Amino acid sequence: MAETKTISIPEEYGSMVFNDTVMRDRLPKDIYKAVHKTIKNGTHLELDVANTVAAVMKEWAIEKGATHFTHWFQPMTGLTAEKHDSFISPNPDGTVLMEFSGKELVKGEPDASSFPSGGLRATFEARGYTAWDPSSPAFVKDGTLYIPTAFCSYGGEALDKKTPLLRSMEALSQEAVKVLHKIGNEEVSHVDTTVGSEQEYFLIDKDMYLKRKDLLMCGRTLFGAPAPKGQEMEDHYFGVLKPKVSEYMHDLDHELWKLGVPAKTKHNEVAPSQHELAPVFETANVAVDHNQLTMEVMKKVADKHNYACLLHEKPFEGINGSGKHNNWSLVTDKGENLLDPGKTPLENMQFMVFLVATIAAVDKYQDLMRVSVATAGNDHRLGANEAPPAVISIFVGDELAGVLKSLAEGTEFVGKGKTKMSIGADVLPHITKDTTDRNRTSPFAFTGNKFEFRMPGSSLSVADPNIILNTAVAEELSEIYSKIEDTPADEIQEKVYNVLKDMLEEHKRILFNGNGYTDEWIEEAEKRGLDNLKSLPDAMPRLVSDKSVELFTKFGVFTKEELDSRYEIFLENYSKTIHIESLAMQEMVRKDFTQGLVNYSKDIAETASKKKELGLSVACKYETAMLEKLDSLGGSILEKIDKLHKDTVKIEQDGEGELETARYYHDVILEDMEELRKDVDVAEGLIPDEYIPYPTYGEMLYSLR
Ligand code: ADP
Ligand code: MG
Repeated sequence: MAETKTISIPEEYGSMVFNDTVMRDRLPKDIYKAVHKTIKNGTHLELDVANTVAAVMKEWAIEKGATHFTHWFQPMTGLTAEKHDSFISPNPDGTVLMEFSGKELVKGEPDASSFPSGGLRATFEARGYTAWDPSSPAFVKDGTLYIPTAFCSYGGEALDKKTPLLRSMEALSQEAVKVLHKIGNEEVSHVDTTVGSEQEYFLIDKDMYLKRKDLLMCGRTLFGAPAPKGQEMEDHYFGVLKPKVSEYMHDLDHELWKLGVPAKTKHNEVAPSQHELAPVFETANVAVDHNQLTMEVMKKVADKHNYACLLHEKPFEGINGSGKHNNWSLVTDKGENLLDPGKTPLENMQFMVFLVATIAAVDKYQDLMRVSVATAGNDHRLGANEAPPAVISIFVGDELAGVLKSLAEGTEFVGKGKTKMSIGADVLPHITKDTTDRNRTSPFAFTGNKFEFRMPGSSLSVADPNIILNTAVAEELSEIYSKIEDTPADEIQEKVYNVLKDMLEEHKRILFNGNGYTDEWIEEAEKRGLDNLKSLPDAMPRLVSDKSVELFTKFGVFTKEELDSRYEIFLENYSKTIHIESLAMQEMVRKDFTQGLVNYSKDIAETASKKKELGLSVACKYETAMLEKLDSLGGSILEKIDKLHKDTVKIEQDGEGELETARYYHDVILEDMEELRKDVDVAEGLIPDEYIPYPTYGEMLYSLR
């Protein structure tokens, strides 16, 4: 029995976080104010202020059991990075002081020459630096004080995901505030992006995980004959939690709560052994940090419970993969959700502005939205009838579609219960999230008072899609502003509606309320001129297109060099991922799988010859047929593995150009792997489990209690 202890959740929640309450309680008033100003306005923090904050933070962290501190950052690997320094400072008399200065809080210099920089950082200046991000709270985890930081080169170029995210949030805020002031909402001085990212994951037995080299090295299975039962019964979705899984989730919630991560909902997902955790939304920057923490803690707690937590987008073939729904909205510093249809004509106009700006942004920059979720892992999901297709479209539901249609056509809107109203003059109905109206097949859906982007893969940092979404919406708002800035106040309403009407006319092709999984939609999308960028190598060139460079440089989110470096890193990462998969596959087939095949064949052959030795008049039909089958499969496996080997060596030797290399991995290596897998899976289906040197799909997917 697990030990039961009574915990007060309000006491536990955020207990390991250096949050606003702790700062207010412990910092001198003027220092607290200075920090608050920095957090709110992004202003520079004076060194004496930093020194005081550092001293107080250190005292607090030591009380929480910390002996070390680390700058915590998010390099381009998409993971988090940390380097721990202890607080100790030895004295000549053999004693020791615990020290932590303002300088150490504000700036760090990790020896960072091995992080991907895509050529941004020449090696002579390889020491990029980390800079404290006071807008995301520090916390204590495993005896270390974690300080969220941005990571830049000495030239000031972003080497991480946080820096451009913060820049994009700022750009969006500035453009949103300009428009809001112009349309009459003059109180607002800042707009924040809010994000809630639902996280899907698989749990499997740890011992089984450790026996699968493919899971260990690649995060996904490279082989596996389908289990007799897959997900066709749909009996797992929202099903009763198994007791041990429930204990895991319970423990996970508590660990997250201590770190101030607002884990809220948990349930079983569609696939066996698949689950989901959704947090309460937060400011995008904090939400991104918290999602990274969530993924880390999920793995750590799993290990404690003798599970392995799989965050790969497609750990098992033939079973749904895992995604991460990025719920996104905008909130003013007065607490108003800008995507909430309001109660007054002004609020309505506001809502329509931000709604149409988002629709236009997603249409105009659909290729960048696709780029933002492109990874080798996620390519296995998109368009595979379990996740949105690679085509971007927007679902707004019937009611809102009606409102938009009336807007575009300049007609009266007829709502539910036949209420009539003219857009602009009357108050819009509250657009409720109608459960019958939910469309799980849409990549980008309006869900009542926010948009939900459903394409991100489960292991992705949600920084990427939010950087693009924020910047694209900033651009559309800037365009709206340029069209209304000279309009006098008494004409503003009409002007705004005319501008929105034109924008909608131009971008309405992106709206689609039907089933996104069908072939008809893919055909229709093509007719509408929507992009269908099926793989990462198809999509990635769009990141460095003139249109993209223009967008990101206009708002200072990325320089051209930063975009070029990211392009290079994403492509390289893609090729490397598939390269490792190819090698892992070759090793598993040659060293492990074929051993099973040979042993089984040997045993059957021995059985047959024994039968004959005994002088029985037997035909040994089963043994003969099985031997022939296995022999033929073995021959085919040999040919295919040789081809995979040759093709992999070829690209190792002649690879030139990131894009060409990535294309080769997509067109040739993935294809070779697919072919090899087919034979191995068929053979696995014929060979008894005890000959297979690693756990099967059936064992892994149904092992949880
Ligand atoms: P579902 O999408 O399953 O219906 P919810 O509507 O409760 O579930 O929300 C899903 C996610 O959306 C949660 O993580 C929630 O915090 C987040 N969310 C809700 N409102 C907002 C908002 N205004 N901005 C960003 N995320 C939000
Ligand atoms: Mg959802």
